[in-house]
Amino acid sequence: MASSYEGGCRCGAVRYQLGGEPYKSGVCHCTECRRETGSAFLYYADWSTDSFTVSGDYKTYDGRSFCPVCGGTLFHLSDDHVEIALGSLDEAPVALVPLREGWIKRREPWLVAVVGAGQFREDTDL
Ligand SMILES: [Zn+2]
Ligand SMILES: [Zn+2]
Repeated sequence: MASSYEGGCRCGAVRYQLGGEPYKSGVCHCTECRRETGSAFLYYADWSTDSFTVSGDYKTYDGRSFCPVCGGTLFHLSDDHVEIALGSLDEAPVALVPLREGWIKRREPWLVAVVGAGQFREDTDL
């Protein structure tokens, strides 16, 4: 049976579905991700846009989309892929282990490195 994921914002105005498994997953400590989430890092995974469907009215600022009603962080949609903020998935915890960790030079000193994840001082070249 093929895997799939569903998620959305806090108020339910925006809902999305994803088919299959992501091809990339990680956490990012960069300034943009900190600002977007209002937290210390973003936990994300990438799927091709082919496997993504969304309903509801969302707003996008600088490539990053959110719900204009509740402010929930959702995704970054580009031509060929969608990067999902995994905290917006319905099921938690999910089995999507971060395989890469970006901008570790901005990682809070009280956080430890994700075991098994590739470590990058800034963005990856992968
Ligand atoms: Zn909402
Ligand atoms: Zn980032």
